[in-house]
Amino acid sequence: MNLDGRRESTNVEDRRGMSGGAKAGIGGGVMGIIIALVAMFMGGGDLGSILGQMGQMGGLTQEQQVNEQGQVEFSAEEQELAKFSKQILAGTEDVWSQIFLQQGLGEYKDPKMVLYSGATSTACGQGQAAMGPFYCSGDQSLYLDLSFFMSMKQQLGADGDFAYAYVIAHEVGHHVEYLTGVLQQIHSKMARYGQGSAQANKESVRIELLADYLAGCWAHYDNQRFGSVEDGDLQEAIDCALKIGDDYLQKRAQGYAMPESFTHGTSQQRMRWFKAGYESGDVRRGINSAMQLDYSQL
Ligand SMILES: [Zn+2]
Repeated sequence: MNLDGRRESTNVEDRRGMSGGAKAGIGGGVMGIIIALVAMFMGGGDLGSILGQMGQMGGLTQEQQVNEQGQVEFSAEEQELAKFSKQILAGTEDVWSQIFLQQGLGEYKDPKMVLYSGATSTACGQGQAAMGPFYCSGDQSLYLDLSFFMSMKQQLGADGDFAYAYVIAHEVGHHVEYLTGVLQQIHSKMARYGQGSAQANKESVRIELLADYLAGCWAHYDNQRFGSVEDGDLQEAIDCALKIGDDYLQKRAQGYAMPESFTHGTSQQRMRWFKAGYESGDVRRGINSAMQLDYSQL
C-alpha cells in the first residue's frame, strides 16, 4: 500500500502498557440496549478451536521495555504498526463520511479505535487479545492488540500491509452495519434463535460476509481517492480471506469442518464478498444482498 503523506486518525485511545481493565467504569448504562461484540475470529461461543488455531498471542507485548520513568517503550516495529493502523482508520473516516453522503445513508459518525495489550474492558465486557480484533457497538469502538498482526503473519502466513488494512476495515465494516441498523436487526434475530444455534450461526455469517464486503468498498474508494492500492495488494487481502474462512480454520485445527458451526463464512465466501465490494463499491447492494439472500445463496 502507498500511504505516503496520509494523516493519522485522532480517534484513537492508546491503552497499551496499561494493565487489563484499567479503563473501567463503562457498562452500567448499557443494559437494555443491544450490545454487539463481533470479533474477527471468534463468534458463536466456540473459542477452543480458534484459540488453539491462533496459538499464543502477545509476540510484540513481550518485547515491551519499561524505561526508568516506568513508561512502556514500544519496539520500532510496534510503533510502525500503530502509525499504520491510525492511517488506515483515518482513511476509513475520510472514505465512509463521503460514501454516507453520496449514497444517502445519513451522517457518518467516526468510531473510536482502542489500542491495547493483553486485555482491556469494553462496554461489551472484557476484551482479550486472544479473541482477535473486534468491534463493540456498546461503545462504538474497535479494539486492536497490535500483536495480532504478528500472529497473522507467523501462524496463519497471512501477511502484508493490505491484509492488515483489510482486518481494520472489516471491523469498521461492523461499525457501518451498526450505523445503518443492520447489526441490530441481525443481532435481535440471533437472540431469538438462541446464541450458538445453527440458525443464529447462519445469521452471524451474514454480518461477517457483509463486513468483508464493506471492507472491499472502503478499499475501492480509498484507492480511487488516494491511489493507495498497489500491485499485489489485492492478492494479499484475498490470501488473508482464504486463511480466515471457517472451513479452512476448522480443518487446520481439527482435520474436518462443521458447516453448522460456521459463524464467519467459508474461505470462498469471504474472498468473494470482499472482492465484490472492492469491484463495485456499491454499499446498498451489499447490504441488500446480505439481508435478503437465502443462506445457501450467500
Ligand atoms: Zn467480523
